[in-house]
Amino acid sequence: MLKVSDLHVYYGGIHALKGVHLNVEQGQIVTLIGANGAGKSTTLRTIVGLEKPRSGSILFNNEELIKLNTYQIIQRGIGISPEGRKVFPNLTVIENLELGAYHQRPKEVAEQMEWVYSLFPRLQERSKQLTGTLSGGEQQMVALGRALMSKPKLVLLDEPSLGLAPLVVEEVFRTVQTINEQGATILLVEQNAMAALKVAHYAYVLETGRVILEGTGKELLQDERVRKAYLGE
Ligand code: ATP
Repeated sequence: MLKVSDLHVYYGGIHALKGVHLNVEQGQIVTLIGANGAGKSTTLRTIVGLEKPRSGSILFNNEELIKLNTYQIIQRGIGISPEGRKVFPNLTVIENLELGAYHQRPKEVAEQMEWVYSLFPRLQERSKQLTGTLSGGEQQMVALGRALMSKPKLVLLDEPSLGLAPLVVEEVFRTVQTINEQGATILLVEQNAMAALKVAHYAYVLETGRVILEGTGKELLQDERVRKAYLGE
């Protein structure tokens, strides 16, 4: 479904991605783990056209995305929940969700909203509340929900567990699995390597802009280098 090959991205003189490759098959949860600054967010941002690569290829259902702009990429069926949530604090929950569906017809908006509310009943209860007054976990639900409003086939999630209490983190990962079981393919960026590898069908470890290791979630959970560097053993 998604095939990234030999991707090089620069920020001025900084060579942030040095030939990153990854594959996401339809129906999978694929995770990208790695330390701060490894290039995880840059990879997601480049997939949706927010950063322009110097070279490489990003094929989505065999179509090259690099020449498209972000709006066109979202229209192809990719949704993103960005790092730091980026919800609009002064808009209500329902307004934030609607922003995720700006190119949909009203009937589709209603259908997607119903799906998002079935995943996050709390958002329905709080639909008229200003998003900035929600708890961190609830704001994360809004960010996830907004990414789902565009009816994406592939959902990119950038650190959905960041800054959340352990019980809320568990809830977020359970929801990621539910979204996947209900048909969405997921590319998940995480610093919480243990939780991410547990839910992932396949995983890549990124270090200073390169993929240094890959395998099934199970394989990487057992890998000595991963256990030492990312699982705190
Ligand atoms: P984190 O987990 O800390 O978010 P990450 O793996 O997502 O890290 P990126 O945010 O992709 O890493 O950053 C990769 C490299 O690119 C880092 O060295 C970072 O300092 C640099 N970088 C990221 N964004 C910019 C920018 N806008 N301008 C300059 N350098 C940047």
